[in-house]
Amino acid sequence: MSDSNAPSGNDAVPAAATPIELNRSVAGLPGVGSQFSARFAHLGLRTVGDLLNHLPIRYETEVAEAAVTDAKAATEQSEETVTRSVRGEIEKVRHIPGRRPRIEALLADTSGTIRLVWFNAPWLVKKIHPGACGIAQGRAKLRGGYLEMVNPRWEPVAETVHVAAHTGRLRPIYPATEELPTARIERVIAAILPGALLSVVDLVPAPLIEGRGLVSLATAYHQIHLPHHRAEAESARRRLAYDELLCLQLAMAMRRWQVRHAMRAPAMPLSAAIEERIHSRLPFALTPSQLEVCAEIAVDLGKTIPMNRLLQGDVGSGKTAVAVYAMLTAVAHGHQAVLLAPTEILADQHLRTVETMLAGSRVRIAGLTGSLRTADRAVVLSGLASGGFDIAIGTHALLGAHVQFKSLAVAIIDEQHRFGVEQRAALRSKGPVAEQVPHILVMTATPIPRTLALSFFGDLDISSLRGLLPSRTTPTTRIMPTQRSDEVYTWLKTRIAKGEQAFVVVPAVDGSDLGLKDVATHAQSLEEGILRGCRIGRVHGQMKSAAGEEVMADFRAGKLDILVATIIIEVGVDIPNATVMVVEQAERFGLAQLHQLRGRVGRGGKHGYCVLIGEPPSEIAQSRFDAIAASSDGFEIAELDLKLRGPGEFFGARQSGLPPLRVADLVEDFPLLLQARADAEAWIGSSGDLSAAGDLALRTRVIGLYGAALGLCDIG
Ligand code: ADP
Ligand code: MG
Repeated sequence: MSDSNAPSGNDAVPAAATPIELNRSVAGLPGVGSQFSARFAHLGLRTVGDLLNHLPIRYETEVAEAAVTDAKAATEQSEETVTRSVRGEIEKVRHIPGRRPRIEALLADTSGTIRLVWFNAPWLVKKIHPGACGIAQGRAKLRGGYLEMVNPRWEPVAETVHVAAHTGRLRPIYPATEELPTARIERVIAAILPGALLSVVDLVPAPLIEGRGLVSLATAYHQIHLPHHRAEAESARRRLAYDELLCLQLAMAMRRWQVRHAMRAPAMPLSAAIEERIHSRLPFALTPSQLEVCAEIAVDLGKTIPMNRLLQGDVGSGKTAVAVYAMLTAVAHGHQAVLLAPTEILADQHLRTVETMLAGSRVRIAGLTGSLRTADRAVVLSGLASGGFDIAIGTHALLGAHVQFKSLAVAIIDEQHRFGVEQRAALRSKGPVAEQVPHILVMTATPIPRTLALSFFGDLDISSLRGLLPSRTTPTTRIMPTQRSDEVYTWLKTRIAKGEQAFVVVPAVDGSDLGLKDVATHAQSLEEGILRGCRIGRVHGQMKSAAGEEVMADFRAGKLDILVATIIIEVGVDIPNATVMVVEQAERFGLAQLHQLRGRVGRGGKHGYCVLIGEPPSEIAQSRFDAIAASSDGFEIAELDLKLRGPGEFFGARQSGLPPLRVADLVEDFPLLLQARADAEAWIGSSGDLSAAGDLALRTRVIGLYGAALGLCDIG
């Protein structure tokens, strides 16, 4: 389908330019001496291609330079404070020390002088000296008859000759460093741009680009660096965003294609007898939503096309039962299954749950965590390899290369937000032969907004558990300001007196993170203060896992009333008697995290309470608090969290193991994402995994970007 068309967008390129190779080194370009090339390299800018892809973070409308007297006259006549730009030579400088040190300078041009004042600007100390020439731009005011700018932008220039700038020009502002200011980057990019654009090769076929109403790649690069107006910059950005999304979606589609075409999993059709046997093992009747998901999984497991499915369901929605259902299907067919948990605490909890469910059956279950003793470990490993164990439950210790299975048919990854794409790839290598891979089910309690699911888990099919289990109610959520935390703990004492248990979550492990409440200090202050007499335990991620597990066991057994913990208890922990979740400095946590935390309580039939103590430092933080208090739907909260915080922070983006997107904004560019996805699917649908001659350049690019993370290189 593709044919790499010659550099289009010649409309944007001055005819006289000579081509500059994109792989040409930045060192030696006009304006880049050896000293500067190191500074460029520091920003990752080594080649002309790197420069082309160094995109502006924003644009500023350039202000026309004015002679100082003209600027002064205009300021006298104007009612508002207007941004002005003057060019001249520094005549005098004064450094005024103090709590807010300031630099005062007089800048002169041939017409007059202006006072420049900078507060707290140590980086300017060396630059602002008598004789220094530069352009000062800032909001100009009259003070005591003097024209003055406070904290103006300062751009050093070689000469003071006034060059008339064209007003209204958009100036690109680049990611820069102190040694390499944006103005210098701008000059170098502007100089190479005409020649570099001639070397730009558009890998996306012109008909597709035109069909989507996008500009050519060369035009996009031209207009993103030197836009005439904002609409032009935006259409350029859209084109580059589309390319980025298209590559990601091509990678996902290729991944799906490869899994479907090159790998096989055992087909395990479900008979009525097997189904009956499995259901009789579960201690409760499955809810309609659980049954629906199990049916979807059963269809997948019945085929040789490997299942690659994401199960999302709110905290406490009953995902474990679904996992057991899938694992027992494998066992019923004489194969093995594995359940992978993100922490030892969770792995142990799963092991206990599954052992209880299957007590008295012939299913043999092995637990494997990092803390297993060497001798026990050897028994587990040989049992998995020989088929002596049917089910393995453990942590990432199960991913080690030495762990091999006789016949792994189902692999389940719980709480995916600690596991990326590579883990799935590792699990695929555990079958007896390379071509036979397990069916994979990834489970997460963090509902993933659709836009992120399509971007970062685009190679997965998605199932969702909706609605609450019969025994569950949504915890009551309250927001409390910090100065009222005593009231919270006084009330907490009354719950403890009733025999209930509570979690208190703080952001830090120890006191080294300044300004954050930590487990050690907070637990001690509660113990010695307002909660005197209560039995308080401590859990955090930096503890030895055996110690952590011991505390959890004491808490579960009711030997502790309160657990002061870090976010480590966010995932999966199931303590039916815990009814209260107090979160300190709640503004430090993400919405999805808070929702997860509150899902830890009220699991045993008693009503749960969640108290978020905090000081919303901004309007956004306040609206996040309001949202979590108002909503109990994890899917809704996830969408909102994404809107408020952006995908950078969000689950999936970081944890997926994929390189981050540079241009596309997953919230704003959602329609573009859907287009790119449709285009990628059609493309892969007609050309397989991009191995047609015309697609090879694009294939190389896609594999270069995502091959390692998605395991695309393994094949072909
Ligand atoms: P999560 O989705 O957070 O992993 P779990 O699988 O831990 O949720 O289930 C939460 C609790 O609900 C567990 O105690 C489990 O035994 C119980 N449970 C799961 N499914 C059902 C059901 N269909 N009926 C009653 N209780 C259930
Ligand atoms: Mg769970």
